[in-house]
Amino acid sequence: MSDFDGPGLYIHVPFCTHICPYCDFSVLTGDRSWQTRYLQHLSLEIELLTESGWPELVREPPSEAFDTIYFGGGTPSMLPPGNLESILEAVRAKMHVRENAWLFLEANPEDVTLKAATTWRQMGFRTISLGVQSFAEDNLAFLGRQHSPRAARRGLDNALAAGFDTVAMDLIYGIPDQSPRAWQSDLDEALAAGPHHLSCYQLTVHPRTPFGFRQLRGEMMEMDNDDQAELFMLTHRHLAAGGMPGYEVSNFAAGPQHRSLHNQKYWSHSPYLGLGPSAHSFARGRRWWNPRKIKAWMAPLDAGRPPLESVEELGLESLVLESLMLGLRTYDGVDFDNLPGGLGPALWRDNRATIDELVKRGLATVDRSRLRPTLAGLAIADTVARSLDLGGLRNEPT
Ligand code: SF4
Repeated sequence: MSDFDGPGLYIHVPFCTHICPYCDFSVLTGDRSWQTRYLQHLSLEIELLTESGWPELVREPPSEAFDTIYFGGGTPSMLPPGNLESILEAVRAKMHVRENAWLFLEANPEDVTLKAATTWRQMGFRTISLGVQSFAEDNLAFLGRQHSPRAARRGLDNALAAGFDTVAMDLIYGIPDQSPRAWQSDLDEALAAGPHHLSCYQLTVHPRTPFGFRQLRGEMMEMDNDDQAELFMLTHRHLAAGGMPGYEVSNFAAGPQHRSLHNQKYWSHSPYLGLGPSAHSFARGRRWWNPRKIKAWMAPLDAGRPPLESVEELGLESLVLESLMLGLRTYDGVDFDNLPGGLGPALWRDNRATIDELVKRGLATVDRSRLRPTLAGLAIADTVARSLDLGGLRNEPT
């Protein structure tokens, strides 16, 4: 049991200096006046929360205090420290936030000067996550990133020197024609830079992005599945050998204390609240989210209403399926005794033959009521989860 098992708060900061051609997040390259409007509307959104610090639609709001606050985006490091400070003050004034809540900040490597890093650290940020993506000049150019490998190294050095508990970085692999050797050398550079946490994401080409259009025109092709699988295995084996073992399909940490306390809430169905355009929230079997576009997010706030795009009620079957899918993406796997609705033991019995088959094929191991994926199982985590039959749960109420 972690000491941080209360709800998490996510704040989406939708600004970037430049839009990367693979990005499908809710972001814009707005000038300062957009930032001002965003900040005004964020405080309106915070003001509209009920006394519990949750929106009205949450039946029986969680009583525990928020113990993580994650500034993601976008590029939160673009906001001046004074603005980050005001958001934190507003959140602490209105919401039930634990004194020692763990604060996360996503940053563009170029923004991480020693002065800025020291200021963020003094404000209480404990994890800083740099969007490095690659240490190879040609990859950075392909990905449309504005920083150089040198700027990435400098940003990491500054973050380490400022004394964050966890310095994290994101990398992207599966770039068309990327060889295992080239990817391994990127990983070596990352390890040599000395971060405490790494997230390695496979490049995904999303529709209606510049890469999506390039792919439609036949000008680029996503890496094929076999090559991606090879790089996936290489990533997990190489980082484990380098002292940075995986704990989830895309996440690696130099020790359990550096695992992302905030992201683990998403994977374990802990309650979380998202503020800002496109932010998602989850509590008591309900998921809801804000409009993606900043104007659509601001309009209801101007009218004094919460910026709600949609609400989804998750039935028991969906909750169990999500728990399986999220759990089987982690090295710890899924403890069937802890599945929602207390239905794990029956599900285990119903799926005994499938579980035996997964073990026989080297895709999972069994430890009492826990099903743990092997590395081969992690590589096809969704398929493993979907191979389990939830038929008996269909249409059960929560
Ligand atoms: S920096 Fe990140 S959020 Fe911003 S455009 Fe690039 S990928 Fe998207």
